[in-house]
Amino acid sequence: MKSARIPGPNEPLEIVDLETPKPQENQVIVKVKSVGVCHSDLHLWEGGYDLGDGQFMKVTDRGVKYPVTPGHEIVGIVEEMGSNVQGYSKGDEVLVYPWIGCGDCPACKVENENLCDTPKSLGVFQDGGYSDFTLVPHYKYLAKLSGVNPDSATSLACSGLTAYNAIKKANKNSPEFLVIIGAGGLGLMGVQLAKAVTHAKIICVDLDDKKLETAKEMGADYVVNSKDTETSQKIISICNSKGADSVVDFVNAPPTAKLGLSVLRKRGNLVLVGLFGGSMELSLVTIPLKSITIQGAYTGNYNDMVELLDLTRKGTINPIITKHYSLSEAHSALEDLKARKILGRAVINP
Ligand code: NAD
Ligand code: ZN
Repeated sequence: MKSARIPGPNEPLEIVDLETPKPQENQVIVKVKSVGVCHSDLHLWEGGYDLGDGQFMKVTDRGVKYPVTPGHEIVGIVEEMGSNVQGYSKGDEVLVYPWIGCGDCPACKVENENLCDTPKSLGVFQDGGYSDFTLVPHYKYLAKLSGVNPDSATSLACSGLTAYNAIKKANKNSPEFLVIIGAGGLGLMGVQLAKAVTHAKIICVDLDDKKLETAKEMGADYVVNSKDTETSQKIISICNSKGADSVVDFVNAPPTAKLGLSVLRKRGNLVLVGLFGGSMELSLVTIPLKSITIQGAYTGNYNDMVELLDLTRKGTINPIITKHYSLSEAHSALEDLKARKILGRAVINP
């Protein structure tokens, strides 16, 4: 099989020929039709995350081993199955749940494998979908597309799933005003999902007017370009001068997290999702006085992914796929994402 691999941090992706694995017992070989290009693939390519103050969290310290085949938003058809596989046949179109856990820790025991203590996620800790074939360790990680477009379905494994989980957390205080920061792959899914599952007025923030225009088409009630001065005051005045009930930060870098905190009203809820990183100082006393909640959200569980497939089938959400690359163009796909040239999501069709 052919795979586009990251040889090491910041090295150009290489197309390599690897032996196609033979599936054993519960394993399934999926022939990849489409794989989403996520900003997290870029962090993997860059070798880690910015911790601020010149510090860097290396992915190798979290258990990543190079060379690695990225790609965690995988859609394909069942090609070959191990002897224990049930409920699937060769040729079935499937979406792969990539956030695989150990099966044993407290999170895995309540079916939140995405929060596992020792994750084995596809496209991060094991080879993923930038390849013409992918080995899925167990058929329980598959979900049938049953009519959902394969390119659209890719984003349900990460961008959609993460946005869904984050919006559900942001909806806990029944927000009247919900701010979504970052109108990229995740944020545009966030806008659609917020429209579908909350009763909030949605305010979307980005630096790019074209992305904000798309956010409006997806259902944002207000858009604000954070390049403008007085962004914070603008948002607060939209929120009846009281501030926002919830903010979901899909960038999560010092300027956006500061903006999020500054527009939050009393009893507000800040959900941090992006991995752009950095560090910031907190004014501690405002947190109890305003009774603010600050929380993180990391992808979502298998059941959420199945719910999202259903929402897509019904047409409630419509993932935006604007660009297609071949496997040999994987390197350009990552470069284009880095240069902010991608609107919504790009996919690789091996
Ligand atoms: P993307 O590149 O598609 O979109 C990022 C968006 O943020 C762009 O529209 C960009 O214009 C905007 N942006 C960047 N800096 C900004 C700023 N200072 N102010 C306002 N807007 C700004 O990325 P994506 O695929 O949507 O991913 C977003 C982040 O979420 C990445 O760091 C990614 O690794 C992370 N992520 C987190 C999880 C999780 O589970 N927590 C899952 C997937 C991705
Ligand atoms: Zn992702």
